[in-house]
Amino acid sequence: MNVAAILKAKGRAVATTKPDTPLQAVIEKLAAKRIGALVIVGASGGVEGIISERDIIRALAEHGASCLGRPVSDFMTREVVVCTEADTLDELMATMTAGRFRHIPVVEDGALVGIVSIGDVVKHHIAEVEMEASALRTYLLAG
Ligand code: AMP
Repeated sequence: MNVAAILKAKGRAVATTKPDTPLQAVIEKLAAKRIGALVIVGASGGVEGIISERDIIRALAEHGASCLGRPVSDFMTREVVVCTEADTLDELMATMTAGRFRHIPVVEDGALVGIVSIGDVVKHHIAEVEMEASALRTYLLAG
């Protein structure tokens, strides 16, 4: 299973915002969409950063409520690890585990074409394991 197959099942919509968006508006968008991260895109549409619940908790802990009026670019992660549609589920699981993050934007030729979250990875991994178990049961019963 690769990223292209995951995107085929879940769609290619990515929740994004601009670097100058106030943190308060970011929080409202995360809550409204019931998601944990937004990708920050620049004027050219390129990925400039990612902001997740964890960054917001850290900003609140360090600066208090005053951070809510500041631009998201002050708190986002700028070194974003991305993947391509050819990457496999196993590669994504390894990258998320090693990097300790739960979101990976999908970029093809510099364009943002999707995002994969830990929820998507776990869902497809369970489906794969169940298929394998079912195939093994069939094989054993046939013997
Ligand atoms: P998450 O587990 O996705 O909520 O993110 C945990 C931390 O990793 C936060 O500081 C995020 O900004 C950062 N982060 C999330 N996704 C990525 C990514 N794909 N590349 C780099 N950092 C990330």
